[in-house]
Formats: sequence, structure tokens, C-alpha cells
Amino acid sequence: MRVVVLAGGVGGARFLLGVRDVLRDDAAQGDSTSRHQIQVIVNTGDDLTVHGLRVCPDLDTVMYTLGDGIDTERGWGRREESWQAKEELAAYGAQPSWFGLGDRDIATHLIRTRMLDAGFPLSEVTAALCERWQLGASGTRVQLLPMSDQRVETHVVCQIEGVRRVVHFQAWWIAHHAQPPVEEFVFVGVDDASPGPGVLESLSAADAVLLAPSNPVVSIGPILAVPGVRAALRESPARVVGVSPIVDGAVVRGMADKCLPTLGVPVSAEGVARHYGPRKSVGILDGWLVHETDTADVPGVEVRMVPLLMRSPEATAAMARAALDLCRG
Ligand code: GDP
Ligand code: CA
Repeated sequence: MRVVVLAGGVGGARFLLGVRDVLRDDAAQGDSTSRHQIQVIVNTGDDLTVHGLRVCPDLDTVMYTLGDGIDTERGWGRREESWQAKEELAAYGAQPSWFGLGDRDIATHLIRTRMLDAGFPLSEVTAALCERWQLGASGTRVQLLPMSDQRVETHVVCQIEGVRRVVHFQAWWIAHHAQPPVEEFVFVGVDDASPGPGVLESLSAADAVLLAPSNPVVSIGPILAVPGVRAALRESPARVVGVSPIVDGAVVRGMADKCLPTLGVPVSAEGVARHYGPRKSVGILDGWLVHETDTADVPGVEVRMVPLLMRSPEATAAMARAALDLCRG
């Protein structure tokens, strides 16, 4: 089975653990030749350059999570991390001081930056980094596909202390704690970007397409904004099923509740489903999973209620199975 998942960082990565568990179990039940594939189209809109290093937060979160190198409590960055380089940079007064670069993590960014400077595209750099982490499981191959090899960076038009400013998404999110009121999210460079190698092909060859419970505005939004991706989703032979990131009428973590209102989207499972819209009209969804305490009435979209809290590997796998079942119709 070929499963394509659109994902951001922490929410996407955790959901992917469930998808991989389901396919691994299915492969184990099948004959010895049974092989599955997960292709993850990952948001690169959060990417930034810090202290000369190219950092791809969502790619790294997915890679470290599936590679079992993640700090599970923080949700991002490396386990058993130390912060001496960060302390030394601070002692020099180097800016920006708000972006956390751990010592282990820095090695990833050094290799990435060196390869990019040598002319390799991000997709090839990502494949090279993933070699080390072995993201697959028995009977299941996992491939990370950056949404684009070109730079696309999410910027935020917002009011900071009464002054209208444009800042990188990470600055708004981390340095300003998502507090400055947002006028607009702008995906700088997206109009001239093209989908990364394999992105469109994965969608046209998929048996199932899943939207992870990632931030609809700044994680899934940039992927859908890359020219050609939305059309490829709409034309995919597979059914497209999304998982609500809004549970019990609120975000589980992160700041989607600060992002959705900017687009006029209500912070609810139904609001997000209507924002994505039914594939039967001009949207992208065939199915939508909502938490058991939520409801969603979206004409043209098949809605199912299942527990959507990723509290344990079993709960996450059950969510992924429900999503794959809904893809089968
Ligand atoms: P980020 O790039 O690290 O912000 O991560 P994502 O965009 O992939 O995921 C963030 C979203 O995941 C947030 O909007 C959360 O509401 C959602 N999320 C986190 N944990 C859970 C969970 O257990 N269940 C569901 N349904 N959504 C979750
Ligand atoms: Ca992110």
C-alpha cells in the first residue's frame, strides 16, 4: 500500500508513528513479500537560517521522531541534548538568541548547510540525512519529501508594540510567543516554487492520502500553496482523509487557535474541515476524522468520530487505522 501523508512538525510526526505502526502490523500479517510505503510531504515554510546554518524544523522533527532520536517531552530537538554552543553564542551576544540550537542538533544543520552550499537540492540533502536515521519499519519504507526544493518561508504581517512589522514565522512564534495580532501569513517565494521531486508523483500513485492533524494554516497551508500540489491532491486516484487538529473545540498544543482566526476560520473541527472543503466541490477532502466530543457537518465530506488524542502509541495507531479505513470508504 502506498500512503502519502501531508505533515508539519510535532503533530504530524506523532501521527506518522501511528501510520507506520499500522502498516508494519499489516505487513507482518501479510505474506513475506508484502511491502508498504509511506511518503511524507513535509512543510518547509518554517525553515530559516540561524548563525549561518540552514534549519528545517518540521523536516527535523519528523526525521528525529521516526528515527527515535527525538526529545519526546519537548516534542522537538534531540534527546539527551546539551546547549553549550547556545551558551557560547549568548556570551558573544550573538543574535538571534531566541532560537534553540542544541549541540547534537547543530551537527544536522552543519551537514545540511554544507550540502546545500555544495549545490545539492534540499530533497537530496534530506534523503542523505535520513540514511542515518532509518525511518522505516519492518515491511514499511518511509520517505520524506520536502514540499519544495526552492526556499519558501512563512512570514507574518503583525502589530508589534503598535508598529506594523513583517517577521519570520519563527520569530513571531518563538520570540514573540505568537502574541502580536496577525494581519496576514505570507508564504514568501511560494508563487515561484515548484513541488519537490516525487511530490506530485506520490499523489498520483497513492492508495491513500492523509492530512496529519498539523496546523492547517502554517503547516498544511504552505504545502497546499505550492503551485500544483492542490490540483494533484484533487486529481489523486486515492481518497483524501484529514485528521482534525482541533480536539474538544481547542488546539491540543501549539498556536493554531492564533492562526485560524486570521483566515476567518472558526477554531473547531468543523471549521477546519470547511476550510479544507470537500473534493466534490472545490476542496480537497473526501473524509474527515473528528474527536468523539466534536461534530462536523460538511456536505460532501464523510465524517467519522473517533478518539483523536495521541496519548499512547496504541491510541495513535488506532487513529491512523481509522484514517486509513476511511480512505478505503
Ligand atoms: P508543528 O509544526 O510542530 O507546530 O506541528 P504540526 O503543525 O504538525 O502540529 C501542530 C498541531 O497538532 C496543533 O494544531 C495541535 O492541535 C495538533 N495536535 C497535537 N497533538 C495532537 C493530538 O494528540 N491529537 C490531535 N488531533 N491533534 C494534535
Ligand atoms: Ca512547524
